[in-house]
Amino acid sequence: MTDAITQLIHHPYQPPEGFAAPQPAVHKASTVFFPNVAAMRERDWKHKSGYTYGLHGTPTTFLLEERIATLEGGLQCVLVPSGLAALANVALALLKTGDEVLLPDNSYGPNKALAEGELAAWGITHQYYDPMSVADLAARINDRTRLVWLEAAGSLTLEFPDLIEQVRLCRARGVVCALDNTWGAGLAFNPFDLDGQGLAVDVSAHALTKYPSGGGDVLMGSVTTRDEALHLKLKLSHMRLGLGVGANDAEAVLRALPSVALRYRAQDQAARALAQWCSQQPQFAQVLHPAQPGAPGHAHWQQLCGAADARGQGAAAGLFSVIVDPRYSQAQVDAFCDALALFRLGYSWGGPISLVVPYELASLRANGWPAHIARGTLVRFSTGLEAVADLQADLAQALARALPL
Ligand SMILES: *Cc1c(COP(=O)(O)O)cnc(C)c1O
Repeated sequence: MTDAITQLIHHPYQPPEGFAAPQPAVHKASTVFFPNVAAMRERDWKHKSGYTYGLHGTPTTFLLEERIATLEGGLQCVLVPSGLAALANVALALLKTGDEVLLPDNSYGPNKALAEGELAAWGITHQYYDPMSVADLAARINDRTRLVWLEAAGSLTLEFPDLIEQVRLCRARGVVCALDNTWGAGLAFNPFDLDGQGLAVDVSAHALTKYPSGGGDVLMGSVTTRDEALHLKLKLSHMRLGLGVGANDAEAVLRALPSVALRYRAQDQAARALAQWCSQQPQFAQVLHPAQPGAPGHAHWQQLCGAADARGQGAAAGLFSVIVDPRYSQAQVDAFCDALALFRLGYSWGGPISLVVPYELASLRANGWPAHIARGTLVRFSTGLEAVADLQADLAQALARALPL
């Protein structure tokens, strides 16, 4: 007769099978049991044929991986603890000493910091290419180039590159190309079929922190592929680096995922309406949103994302930036951001609350101020799920208070 505490820890009760409900179960584990030593020795953690250790996957994380792969048009996916970890997983899996990585000059800032602060220390060099010039990218690819990062639209300035030609170039030169697909989220275009004829990026990295989570309360990333050998390379690095995710976080994303397309569209519509309104305000020298005619790369956005919406309006993330006219001081621009009530000051996007961040663009560009961007202070907005009229009124009152005509 064992002690009651032992009995309860090794409890024999198994609930009946066949439970079915809208949301999948949360399987939490570091330890995973094996029925016997032979099974322990045989089990293969590399494929989703069984379970070895919580770090390498549970039913909850496998489910989310499969759903993200479907969202992105891919076949395999690994989950990592943040969007930035997804970028790092790709870099560390594919690059070694002596190699070079190319990044667009408008890329997500921390990806540049990864190259400058970590990869450089491992003897991996980097160059920043002009995202709006395929010729510039072509000129920078050399015999040490092992990875090209792509981003559509670019961070903060939201230029839309000629992604199709960029990918064709990488294919022709035999260089692996990885897209940071956080903006498109698998909804604005299919990264694994860009031209309707199967033209695909090799890797799609995605900050699930943004749209798939949708709550501003989860950090997670994914790395999606359509090539089993490439996936295995990424998965091996993923394992060696210990980049597993927690089951509660995976569950939060699984719960939000069914509404991702609805939220993406609602936040897109709000951002476009506000960008349109901002383009009529004399305090702003330029409004940056790829769906606006005249925006940098608008034609490329039209080509790639124009058909993503059944009503022919195309699809875009709920982000836009303004360049505040340089006659206003930095202090006035800061006061404008402080004066906003519904737009909260904070990083990230894709959650229910609209956000605003002022940026110093000059310090973020390695190759100088882009010719297609007006001079002035850049303020980036992301739209949440509030009523658009309220958001517009918030912008109007803050403009009147802080940036008088
Ligand atoms: C937010 C973001 C990331 C990083 O995601 P985290 O989960 O915050 O680390 C990467 N790329 C882009 C384009 C992003 O917007």
